[in-house]
Amino acid sequence: MSDCCSAPGLLPFEQALATMLSQVSPITETLNLPIEQALHYILAQDIASPLDVPPHNNSAMDGYAFALKSLQANKTLTLVGRSMAGAPFQGTCQPGECIRIMTGAKVPTCCDSVEMQENVTANDEQITFLEEKAFGSNVRNAGEDIKCGQQVLFSGHRLTAVDIGILASLGVAEVVVYRQLKVALIATGDELKLPGDALRVGDIYESNSFVLSAMLTKLNVEVINFGIIEDDFNAIKAAFIGADKQADAVISSGGVSVGDADYTKTVLDELGEIGFWKIAMKPGKPFAFGKLANSIFFGLPGNPVSALVTFHQLALVALTKMQNSAPLKRTHLTVKCTTDLRKAPGRMDFQRGILSVNDEGENVVTSTGAQGSGILSSLARANCFIILPKEQGRVAAGEKVNVQLFDSFL
Ligand code: AMP
Ligand code: MG
Repeated sequence: MSDCCSAPGLLPFEQALATMLSQVSPITETLNLPIEQALHYILAQDIASPLDVPPHNNSAMDGYAFALKSLQANKTLTLVGRSMAGAPFQGTCQPGECIRIMTGAKVPTCCDSVEMQENVTANDEQITFLEEKAFGSNVRNAGEDIKCGQQVLFSGHRLTAVDIGILASLGVAEVVVYRQLKVALIATGDELKLPGDALRVGDIYESNSFVLSAMLTKLNVEVINFGIIEDDFNAIKAAFIGADKQADAVISSGGVSVGDADYTKTVLDELGEIGFWKIAMKPGKPFAFGKLANSIFFGLPGNPVSALVTFHQLALVALTKMQNSAPLKRTHLTVKCTTDLRKAPGRMDFQRGILSVNDEGENVVTSTGAQGSGILSSLARANCFIILPKEQGRVAAGEKVNVQLFDSFL
C-alpha cells in the first residue's frame, strides 16, 4: 500500500514552525496587577531589587552575638542586652561583652559573629563560650541573597509561584504584565457529542477542546469556547466570524485533512488567507495556519493525539511569542531506548515515551506501545516525546534516542 504520508512535498517541521513564528506578532497592551494576581502572566518590565535581601546582617541561630576579638581575649563575656527579630539591640557593646540574639534578629554593628545557645554555659550575666569560632559564624550577611540594584526578573519572563514570593521579599506589591491572550476554540464534526450526552451509533465524545482548553488555561490564556459546531457551511462560517471578532487567535480541530466531507476549508478560504499544510511530522500531518480578518488561525487535525501534539509543538510556541514570552526552552536528553520502535523515513516522529531510571541508575526510555493518532491514553501514560528525525528508520532496543521531557503545559 502506498503511503501518502511519506510522499515528497511534505513541509519540514522546522520550516512550518519558522513560518508560523515569522507571521505572528507579540501583543503590546499591558496592565498593572497586584502580585497575588500575577501568577503565569508575562512580565512587561525588568525588576531590579530596590533593597538588599536580607536588608541587614542577621542571626541564623538562637544564641549570642559578639565581636570575635572579644572572644579571642576571653572565653567568658558579659551579657549586656538582647536583639529580637523586629526589635533590634539599640545600644552598643564594648570589648568583653556579648548580647542575646534570636534567629532573624539584626546583628548589631559592634558584633560580627554568633554562637548557638547549645554551645555556651550561662551563669547570670556571665556567658562562657565552649568552642572556638570563626569570624562571621552564623551570620547571614545583608544582600547575600539579592543585592540592591541587582536585576532579578526580566521582561518576557512568565511569573512562577516562587517569583511571586521573590517579588514580595523585595517589597514589590504590583507589577506591569502583558494582558492575557484571548483564544477561541472550535471543534468541528457531526460525530462529536459532549461528555454527559448520549452517543448515537457512530458518535464519539468530543475531547480536543477539553484538552486544549486545559492547556490554554495553564498558559494563562482567556479561552472562548465555541464548543461543537456541526458540519454545516453556515454554522461553521458563523462560528469562525464570531471567533475572529473576539479573539487574538482561533484554534479549530478537525476538518483540515484532504478529502474531509465538511466545510471548514471552504469557509476558511472565504474568510482569510489560510495555508493548508502537509507537515512532515507524525502524528499531525494535516495542519492549517494563516490569518483571518483580525486574528491568527491554527487548524489542528481532528485525531486527539495529532491535535494535542501539533498544538504543543507548533501552535503553543507561536502563542507564547504572541504573549511576549521569552522563547520556550524544552529539555532534551539522549538516552537508551529499551524497546524497538517502528518508524518509516519521511516524517519526524513524536512518539510517546516513559523516561525512567533502570536498576543500574541509568536514564532509559520505553515506548508507551501502540502509537496510533487516536490513542490518547498513550499520551496520558507518557512523560516525554521520543523525537526521531525525519530520515531515520526503525530503532532497535538498546539504541540511543533523543527525548523531550514534557513541560508544564502538558
Ligand atoms: P477529521 O480531521 O475531522 O477528519 O477527524 C479525524 C478524526 O478525529 C476522526 O476520527 C474524528 O472523529 C476525530 N475527531 C475530530 N475532532 C475531534 C474532537 N474534537 N474530539 C475527539 N475526536 C475528534
Ligand atoms: Mg471531521
